[in-house]
Amino acid sequence: MMIYRKVVEFETRGENDFINITDTIEGIIRESGITNGIVNIFVPGSTAAVTTFEYEPGLKTDIAQALARIAPDDIEYEHHKRWGDDNGRSHVKAAIVGPSLTIPIENGRLLCGTWQQIVFLELDTRPRRRRLIVTVMGE
Ligand code: ZN
Repeated sequence: MMIYRKVVEFETRGENDFINITDTIEGIIRESGITNGIVNIFVPGSTAAVTTFEYEPGLKTDIAQALARIAPDDIEYEHHKRWGDDNGRSHVKAAIVGPSLTIPIENGRLLCGTWQQIVFLELDTRPRRRRLIVTVMGE
């Protein structure tokens, strides 16, 4: 069994910047030389998330709106009182979507559905510099 880890860094434009990272992940898998196993993608940070969906403009808006119904912009968050922060909703959305994702790899390919892309969700209220930890495990 081999383990290959890579840290990817990039800038985001702030809230609801949803970035298709599928090509980046496929590139890391190729570079790893691992053809059968799994890849784990983890975002260290409590106001961003990773998930999969069909990456098209309609769904990007639908997902942003669905998350805004769960954690609206215009309600009170205890987090703001505690830290003088303005991103209570970002923390709530990130906790619900989750910080990591694991996908099986077979014969060098991700076993994703045809319309299933890997997407990084920036949920914070301001642009951020982000790191993603990508771990490929297998043989
Ligand atoms: Zn905060």
